[in-house]
Amino acid sequence: MSRTRVRALAILGGTFDPVHLGHLRAAWEAAEFLGAEVRLIPASVPPHRPQPVASASERMAMLRAALKGQDRLQLDDRELRRSGPSFSVDTLQEFRSEYGPQRPLVLLLGVDAFAGLPAWHCWQALFELAHIGVLTRPGHSPVFTDALQREVQARRIDSVETIAATPAGHIIDIAVSALEISATHIRSELAAGREPRYLVADALLNDAALLAPYRVGSM
Ligand code: ATP
Repeated sequence: MSRTRVRALAILGGTFDPVHLGHLRAAWEAAEFLGAEVRLIPASVPPHRPQPVASASERMAMLRAALKGQDRLQLDDRELRRSGPSFSVDTLQEFRSEYGPQRPLVLLLGVDAFAGLPAWHCWQALFELAHIGVLTRPGHSPVFTDALQREVQARRIDSVETIAATPAGHIIDIAVSALEISATHIRSELAAGREPRYLVADALLNDAALLAPYRVGSM
């Protein structure tokens, strides 16, 4: 009996304060590499870092504008609708309940974020729920703790086929274009009165209200 495979679902969480071309291009390349649908999931109360400058609705508006015109990268506001801290383990649990035990789920993490994984709430439980796709870029090779290194040794695979055929538990590197863009840099450009053109989607510059939370006088 032949079984139709369900397309992998990959998720990229973040503060997206604001969303920029580094996020969008990495998510796009991961979608193509994995043959997956990708959800961008803004965090409401990120447990691992300072609070965002822009509000949840402002960050959603920027994401909505940036994602317009394509349907491979989708916006998902589930963490903003939940109260309390945005733990990835809870988000993945929700996806697992929604999509059942077989659908491949892939948590996408920049390699720097991945290096910090052992500080996350119930981090080892993440592997029961999803694969991890590590977005690697030349020039970014952070040190992994021993515990993380052990997980990498036990779980790392090279084959995207294995990801498509299994629901969870593996770690795969996804080499993405090196776009040295960070939201921190964009916020400081705006605070200094400069335009982050070619660092963010044009749609964010075409509506003056979207980047207003970061402009001089509003911080
Ligand atoms: P900040 O500068 O405020 O720390 P950021 O630009 O790193 O923000 P986040 O929202 O924290 O953006 O990132 C969400 C996810 O996207 C993380 O997994 C992060 O590693 C990844 N990421 C961020 N910038 C890039 C980039 N330029 N290329 C690839 N991945 C990125």
